[in-house]
Amino acid sequence: LVEPVRGEVEFAGVSFRYPNSGEGVNDIDLTVPAGNTLALVGATGSGKSTLIKLLLRFHDSQSGEIRIDGQPIRGLSLISLRRAIGLVSQDVYLFEGSVRDNIAYGRPEADEAAIVEAARTAEAWDFIQALPQGLDTPVGERGVRLSGGQRQRLSLARALLKDPPILVLDEATSAVDNETEAAIQRSLAKIGHGRTVIMIAHRLSTIVHADEIAVVHAGRVVERGTHAEL
Ligand code: ATP
Ligand code: MG
Repeated sequence: LVEPVRGEVEFAGVSFRYPNSGEGVNDIDLTVPAGNTLALVGATGSGKSTLIKLLLRFHDSQSGEIRIDGQPIRGLSLISLRRAIGLVSQDVYLFEGSVRDNIAYGRPEADEAAIVEAARTAEAWDFIQALPQGLDTPVGERGVRLSGGQRQRLSLARALLKDPPILVLDEATSAVDNETEAAIQRSLAKIGHGRTVIMIAHRLSTIVHADEIAVVHAGRVVERGTHAEL
């Protein structure tokens, strides 16, 4: 099997229930052509993050199939699958270590220039420079306290440094102010070029430029279209 490189994402008849709650998603059909941006919107608990978790195989669907570049993700190694996807999850996790370690997680060979570039694109560079030891400042439980928005931007920088064909952003900018959000969106529009982006967001300004918006309700996709259509 070849590593996914183009980044076409396809959900075909995907259903999944969490064994302990019985909640989940039902009969999901979604195709995101390589290079397109899909926005998932819908009420809390509707199943948006669950779709992301299935794509990354944190859980496996009970029926249907998810494919990347036409290949069922079950046939890919978890390493290849997750190498192909840059994820900013709803719950940002920073581990014990420096800002640099956290951004370069999964890319230990990354050089300083690439790290700085990723941090700039994520609008994180200004606050990193203002930290006591810059990139070498310890974060995590025993490190400096970062705000929710700062943590999100570090996580975004990490995802960008991977330079993956698929970028998944689950409420990736929910905790930053409007001005920073706008700056991040401008950067993403540039680096999102030629990349597949799946984003979950509430702010209209975040989703308005998506090629397609899918409305998720009670575990189903109930509407799809462009912003103008919906
Ligand atoms: P939000 O906008 O609040 O992030 P969401 O659309 O991302 O919501 P999901 O997290 O996908 O919603 O949750 C979909 C449903 O599955 C909800 O009813 C939720 O309670 C349930 N659920 C989510 N995670 C689990 C889990 N680990 N175990 C059991 N049930 C879960
Ligand atoms: Mg969610």
